[in-house]
Amino acid sequence: MSTAPIAAPASADLLRRAPKVELHCHLEGSVPAEVAVRLARRHGVALPTADAGELYRYEDLEGFLAVYTAVSRALATPADLAEVTHACLVASAAEGLRYREMSFNPTNHPSMTYRQVLDGVLDGVRSARAETGVDCRLVVAVNREQPPSVALDLVRAALEHRAEEVVAVGLDHDELVGPPAAFAEAFALAARGGLHRTAHAGERGDAAEVAAALDALGAQRIDHGYAVLADPGLLARCRTDGVHFATCWSTQLFHGGDGSAIAGMLEAGLAVSVNPDDPPMFGTSTGEELARAGTALGWTPGQAQQGVLAAVAAAFCDEGDRAALAAEVRRGFAELLAPPAVGWTAGSGTCASAGSGAGPGPGTG
Ligand SMILES: [Zn+2]
Repeated sequence: MSTAPIAAPASADLLRRAPKVELHCHLEGSVPAEVAVRLARRHGVALPTADAGELYRYEDLEGFLAVYTAVSRALATPADLAEVTHACLVASAAEGLRYREMSFNPTNHPSMTYRQVLDGVLDGVRSARAETGVDCRLVVAVNREQPPSVALDLVRAALEHRAEEVVAVGLDHDELVGPPAAFAEAFALAARGGLHRTAHAGERGDAAEVAAALDALGAQRIDHGYAVLADPGLLARCRTDGVHFATCWSTQLFHGGDGSAIAGMLEAGLAVSVNPDDPPMFGTSTGEELARAGTALGWTPGQAQQGVLAAVAAAFCDEGDRAALAAEVRRGFAELLAPPAVGWTAGSGTCASAGSGAGPGPGTG
């Protein structure tokens, strides 16, 4: 009786180079510390420290959000937003990023109107796309620490100043402040205006937060959502309804997790992707995040591809773009896994290999 070969786990190197699709990454969390310090100095914005080596050290979520808010204020002009948006997308494209839905917090840049913020971000998105081919769509993030009326005004502005890249609204910031239901009116308006909905829930909050995001906000995806494991009924509902959970490996560890929640969600049959959240602020990156999660969870290349395709399935794009993206991801993995073409160089008697050089195979060394 023959047994199927057991696929080996993917190497960190392969995962760093694999094609990637991200649904949970914050623009304001994607500013390298040196850039934040430089822009803050230029605009006279106070940061908790002017030492770039110390800026992204915090004890808890409150400490992180204080830095996040200050760094957001340091992005004070459309040109700043264009620079940061372009730079983070180009850097991530070099680590395999093909498509990202990136959140931005317009109200965290009080020196600018919504239109100015949007124009700066779009400038960066479009220049990065022209340069690298990476496709970035945008999620207008509601800061739940602000009153619901601010959220409503923000959604109105998003609908007034439409851009094809803006595909959704999201609920952000401290989960323990401001119940999701308080933002129901803003999210309903967004839905009527044709915007998708996502929400941070179940990271620090409990399973009821996840349920409230689904029921009160009509969220189609959940950012994080680890608490769903505590409620079997809700978990079954999310599995049946195909609710996608855009999880984040490094920030989950920061909050005291050990990865078991993400493993448990996968074992429970939920739709899960791994995303970098606020990459430089937590010492990670597009490539590093998949490498850390994939190696810790022992993913085979096939399982890693499955995770990326889960993100493709939950992307807020049309079906034509989704099919093209899925094909691109499959092609990228196939290229990484293909054994290098090997042939004898005529006359020299030496063995020459060509191709990507990815993965062990005959003739490599
Ligand atoms: Zn997040």
